[in-house]
Amino acid sequence: MKSISIIIPAYNEEKNIPLVYQELKKVFVKCPDYTFDILFVNDGSADGTLAAIEKLAAADQAVHYLDFTRNFGKEVATTAALNNCQGDACILVDADLQHPVELIPTFIKSWEAGFEVVVGVRNKNKSVGILKKIGSAIFYKIINQIAEVKVVPNATDFRLLDRAVIHEFNHFTETNRMTRALIDWLGFRRDYIHFDANERLHGDASYSFWKLFRLALNSFVSLSLLPLKLAGNLGIVITLVAGVSGFYILLGKYFFHWHFAATFSDSENLAILILFLVGIILMSIGLLALYIANIHSEVIRRPMYVIRKKKA
Ligand code: UDP
Ligand code: MG
Repeated sequence: MKSISIIIPAYNEEKNIPLVYQELKKVFVKCPDYTFDILFVNDGSADGTLAAIEKLAAADQAVHYLDFTRNFGKEVATTAALNNCQGDACILVDADLQHPVELIPTFIKSWEAGFEVVVGVRNKNKSVGILKKIGSAIFYKIINQIAEVKVVPNATDFRLLDRAVIHEFNHFTETNRMTRALIDWLGFRRDYIHFDANERLHGDASYSFWKLFRLALNSFVSLSLLPLKLAGNLGIVITLVAGVSGFYILLGKYFFHWHFAATFSDSENLAILILFLVGIILMSIGLLALYIANIHSEVIRRPMYVIRKKKA
C-alpha cells in the first residue's frame, strides 16, 4: 500500500486544527487503498494550537507534529515538514480549510496517472481585498517577464508532491525561499487542478499586504537578476546621452564655432560633465552587480540540474 503524508503548517489555528482533522478523516475513509499520516507544523503559535495538535496526536497514531520554538513563517514550516515527512507522496494543505480537502482523491488520481507534481489552482477568492488582487496581478505580470521559470497565476501551495520531488526539494539550501517557486524550478511532470477557495473559517489571514509585498520582493531577487542589472543599464544610457552631447558641444565650440554651441553656459556644460560621470558610476555599480550575481548563484548552491531517471 502506498503511503501519503498530509502536511499542514499552522500558525494560530487552534480552532481550525480539529476541523481540518475531521475533514481529512472523512476523505481518508474514501481512499482505502492508501495509508495516510498527518504532519502538523506548529509555527510558533501564540494560542492553543500546540495543545490541539497534541490532543489529536495522543489519540491517533497517524498524527505527527513538529513544534517550532518561534514563528519562522509558512515557507520555512513547509520546508521543515518536507524534510521530515515519510510518505511516498505528500500533500500540502492549509490549516484554515481554505483548501478543499475533498479534492485529495482527484490529486491522487492524477499522481497515479504519472504526474509528479499536482498543483491546485485557485479560481477566485471572494474574501480577497482589491489591494491584494491588484498586487498579485502586478506580481505575476512582472515575475513572468523577468524570472527564469514561469509562474502560473493563482497556483497555490495546495499541492501533491511525489517522493522524487521531495527528495530533490530537500537539496535546496537557500534560506530566503518561496516553496512554490522552488517546486516550479525543479520541473517534473505537472498537472493542474482548479478549485474554488473556501472562506477562512476561524481567525485572520496572517499574510498582510506588506508581508506579501516582502515575499514578492524576495521572489524577484531570488528568481531574477533584473533588479541588479537595472542600475548598470541606466548608467549606460546616461553615459551615452551625456557623452555624445558633451562631445558635440566641445566640437562645435572649439573646432567648428557653431553658434548653438556657444549658447551653452558654463554651468550647463558642467551639468553635462557631471551627468557623464554619474553615468560612469552607475555603470560601475552595474558591473559590481554582475559579480554579486555570480556570488549569489554560487552561495545558494542550487543543484545545477535535476535528473528524473538514469540507467547506470
Ligand atoms: N502559516 C504559518 N506560518 C505563518 C503564517 C501562516 O504556518 O507565519 C500557515 C497558516 O496557519 C495556514 C497557512 O500557513 O495554515 C496559510 O496562511 P494564511 O491563511 O494566513 O494565508 P493565506 O490563506 O492568506 O494565503
Ligand atoms: Mg488562508
